[in-house]
Amino acid sequence: MKYVYFFGAGKAEGNGEMKETLGGKGAGLAEMTRIGLPVPAGFTISTECCDYYLKHKHKHPPQLRSEVEKNVAKLERSVGKKLGSGTDPLLVSVRSGSARSMPGMMETILNLGLNDRTVEGLARRTSNPRFAWDAYRRFVQMYATVVSGLPKEELESRLRAMKERLKIKDDTQVSAEDWQSLVSAYKDFFKEKSGRPFPEDPVEQLWGAIGAVFESWMAEKAVTYRRVEHITGLLGTAVNVVQMVFGNTGENSGTGVCFTRDPSTGEKTFYGDYLSNAQGEDVVAGIRTPVHLGELERRMPKIYKQLERVRQVLEKHYRDMQDMEFTVEDGKLYMLQTRTGKRTPAAAFRIAADMVQEGLIKREQAIQRIQAQDIERLFYPVIASTVPRQELLQQKICSGINAVPGAAVGRAVFLAHEAEEWAKKGERVVLVRRETSPEDVGGMAVAQGVLTATGGKTSHAAVVARGWGKCCIVGCEKLFIDYAAKQMSSNGRVVRQGDWITLDGNDGTVYAGQVQLATPEMPKHYYTILKWADEIRGMGVRANADTAQDAHKAREMGAEGIGLCRTEHMFFKDFEHPERSADRQLAIQEMIIADGHEARQRALDRLRPFQRGDFMGIFRAMDGHPVTIRLIDPPLHEFVPHDAEKQKELAQKIGLSPEVVARRVEQLSESNPMLGHRGCRLLITYPEILDMQVGAIIEAALECRKGGVKVFPEIMHALTLDKKELKILVDETRRIADNLIKKAGIKLDYIVGTMIELPRAALLADQLAEQAEFFSFGTNDLTQTVMGLSRDDAGRFLPQYMDEENAAIFSSDPFQTLDVTGVGLLVDWAIKRGRATRPNLKVGICGEHGGDTESVKFCYRVGMNYVSASPFRVPIARLAAAQATIEEKSKKNGKRTRR
Ligand code: PEP
Ligand code: MG
Repeated sequence: MKYVYFFGAGKAEGNGEMKETLGGKGAGLAEMTRIGLPVPAGFTISTECCDYYLKHKHKHPPQLRSEVEKNVAKLERSVGKKLGSGTDPLLVSVRSGSARSMPGMMETILNLGLNDRTVEGLARRTSNPRFAWDAYRRFVQMYATVVSGLPKEELESRLRAMKERLKIKDDTQVSAEDWQSLVSAYKDFFKEKSGRPFPEDPVEQLWGAIGAVFESWMAEKAVTYRRVEHITGLLGTAVNVVQMVFGNTGENSGTGVCFTRDPSTGEKTFYGDYLSNAQGEDVVAGIRTPVHLGELERRMPKIYKQLERVRQVLEKHYRDMQDMEFTVEDGKLYMLQTRTGKRTPAAAFRIAADMVQEGLIKREQAIQRIQAQDIERLFYPVIASTVPRQELLQQKICSGINAVPGAAVGRAVFLAHEAEEWAKKGERVVLVRRETSPEDVGGMAVAQGVLTATGGKTSHAAVVARGWGKCCIVGCEKLFIDYAAKQMSSNGRVVRQGDWITLDGNDGTVYAGQVQLATPEMPKHYYTILKWADEIRGMGVRANADTAQDAHKAREMGAEGIGLCRTEHMFFKDFEHPERSADRQLAIQEMIIADGHEARQRALDRLRPFQRGDFMGIFRAMDGHPVTIRLIDPPLHEFVPHDAEKQKELAQKIGLSPEVVARRVEQLSESNPMLGHRGCRLLITYPEILDMQVGAIIEAALECRKGGVKVFPEIMHALTLDKKELKILVDETRRIADNLIKKAGIKLDYIVGTMIELPRAALLADQLAEQAEFFSFGTNDLTQTVMGLSRDDAGRFLPQYMDEENAAIFSSDPFQTLDVTGVGLLVDWAIKRGRATRPNLKVGICGEHGGDTESVKFCYRVGMNYVSASPFRVPIARLAAAQATIEEKSKKNGKRTRR
């Protein structure tokens, strides 16, 4: 196997496509060399070598030594200098670079090759001893800290002390002699700490540096960065050994970083910073303030013109915005790096749309370039970029799973009803719970954000908050919540009720205090690209919405109907008249507590108008679009109070004794409610509930029809597992609906279908399709039941399953990205079997996966007609559906029709 790839003098063994092997930096250097840009010569040691090193007890592959030696010799020939030469020494930089950019995470060593002999050679050749000794002290400092792990601070404090003694501020004022004495102090320190002299042999230095770069791949900060950024599947880092060019040889030299377009706005302007007489790390360290490129144009017009040409060549070549690093050495320009530039979400849209207009890329490419996070981050408030990082870190309380992105600031409140009371008084609150249940939705609705100590990405808190686009962090395992004392604590920090906290849902961090937030603006290019996506995609996109408000939001986000309206969510809150919520809560509780048909019917009669009204609101919002309404699903015990005080209150209100209420609650409790008396099983036991719900749906639809609204109700049964069970339910649904329609004398089309949420239902899909006119895959439950993992509890151990450095069993959370291998197999089977019975069977998905890019692409591949996502994820689904269409089209050049 080849481990080392050379580049120089217009030729390169690697190329820009080889990011996985050469890392982004190595691939960029090779490609720039190939296309004739001025790049210093060098070689890249591949990521495969890093992989070998880490897997073989930190030993290099046997042939590496000779490969490196050969390449060093080639480099020496190419640049006409020799490593270790006392007259004109070759100096190199040694930098890391993986396939995915990890800014600041891994190591760099500059000026390697300097020692007591070569420094003199460099001083003579440049006639600049001050520069040579400065370069040497930088090298010793970097080598000591990066390769030998000595504390950086101790070295820097020596530098500071020297500057104070000399009464100077700027490094450029330090004389050669003073740098020389600092080098000697650094070396003494090195010897004292590491027990051996500083290595003088450049070859030894080089191997030390190569090893340190490989080691940096596993440094804690790098591992954490990859975990937080979900960077998986990489072999390691490459090592780039490149001839040094110096930006700090005088005023005719300098270094800079630039972008081919503005990375914040996306505007087509040349954007960047330049620091004269400086080396790269001076820009990063922020010791001196760089000037804008415009100033470079004024000072060095020739260099600027050359750089402008490089800008154009690179954009045309890569057809994307590039982020470049360059150095000017004595009036000569060198390109040190090019890579696809990181950009804000707004810039991502603008650049993609502009490049289509400029004819650089096609619409399809523009669509492929936008990522789900670009869309998500456009909508949510974020922690203002002006907040200093250090300040933030000091305020950190704990971190959990970033269930819904965005940021939220509010006072911590631990009980949902208290959150509502505080909000009524005009307070901004963050609801903090161990976990949430439907009883908490009122408090969740008024909160700025939600924080739970348990749960995963499809826990109740996550699903509900996502539906509202509300920042939510779950699974903060280190958080101890004491409801009685109304406080939470983590790592010795205590937050009492009413204390301000800030949630950063982008990375799942919780901070103490009010951190400043910013609201990003919606760029017009967002609309352009989503319009293109809609024109291209071959699959419908609907929304999961339970209220008229959500339905309006869903339309605004581009949903073409509702794929899931969870009716039980309507029982707890009146979103239009929150003050009236108590009426419906009482009615549903009375219905559940009722131990006889009559009492239950009375309660249901009270609920019917609430439901009818809600459905009318949704139908109106969705005028002309289908609405799938799922009949009641969750475990009943979730709807009733569990503490004695509240039970007493309820008993009083509904005229029963507290004992009866307590007994009934006790009867309803199940040891495994997720697999308990829920979904359509409830309607088999209590057909009067089905009666009420179907009645309310059809009455609402008829009423809307009378008002000229176009309604297309799709009535859906949940958790079905058998065709006889479904037949009973479908027959009853049709009987009630047809009666009402007949009585009204109005033409109304509706369809009846089922969710597929259980393995048995999927396996017997051909039989269920005899009854069902449509299938909607409830992949939250289907994942839970196929994998045997609790959707509410798996968050406790799943992170370990996904952690690259740990068990690495799954590449992603199966409750977030559909497990295509397992659950997907059943989905595919069920669609095929269902359509074997009913060729025009309409099929969609309404689990959380409907808003996840990879899962949406799978849904398209298996032939679904639509996906349904929470309103804020609808644009993600629209984009993903278009991306899926483009990908499939390029595979087989066919387009399915949307139904
Ligand atoms: C599902 O199970 O995927 C689903 C949509 O239903 P719920 O989340 O309400 O159980
Ligand atoms: Mg379900």
